[in-house]
Amino acid sequence: MYTVDDFIRTEIEEKVLPALREIEEIYQEIVEEWSSKLGVPRPRVLVTMQNIDECKCSEVCESDDACRLVTGEYYPDTATILLNYRSTLDTLLHLYVHHIQCVQVGVEKFKQIREAERLRLPWSLRPTEIRAVALSKRLYNTLCTQRVIKLWTDYVKSKIKTLDETYSKVRGIVKTALLQSMPYAQTRDLMKRLVTSRDDRAWTGKDTDRL
Ligand SMILES: [Zn+2]
Repeated sequence: MYTVDDFIRTEIEEKVLPALREIEEIYQEIVEEWSSKLGVPRPRVLVTMQNIDECKCSEVCESDDACRLVTGEYYPDTATILLNYRSTLDTLLHLYVHHIQCVQVGVEKFKQIREAERLRLPWSLRPTEIRAVALSKRLYNTLCTQRVIKLWTDYVKSKIKTLDETYSKVRGIVKTALLQSMPYAQTRDLMKRLVTSRDDRAWTGKDTDRL
């Protein structure tokens, strides 16, 4: 009998989480290379499916302002770069530069500066952001080498696509199971039939409701 535990193991633990970890490993490899090059301690990289960005601007910025494009955050206490899985190399570099800033002034001082800026200024007027953008530009050619760009293009891009496809299917199963109180064994059989018919789109949106 295919149970909810089987579903969690085969779909979440064996597909979604490993796909996230694979993206994470490539980003980790990139920041380790950057740290060796610059002689900076290595930060940790965590990749998330949650939508996050650096914007803490309330109503003052537009939806397409730069703060929304930095789809991640740097956590100084644990020297961790948290990134949305669809982030670009530019975002990784921007957050890595915050790590450099933190190493330069020390964790406590960096936290104080960032908090003071966040309380009073929108993202585009915060000195640590203005300096991070400038330093990213200066470091780009040194850090984003052909090898690093190729690593991102060859591996990360394809893994983002795989994760998107997996998410679409798994979300469809959860939605069907929740909304229609359907046992997971039945939703899995339904999934198999749909995969066989190669109609992946049926797992999202209105098509799912029609099933
Ligand atoms: Zn920033």
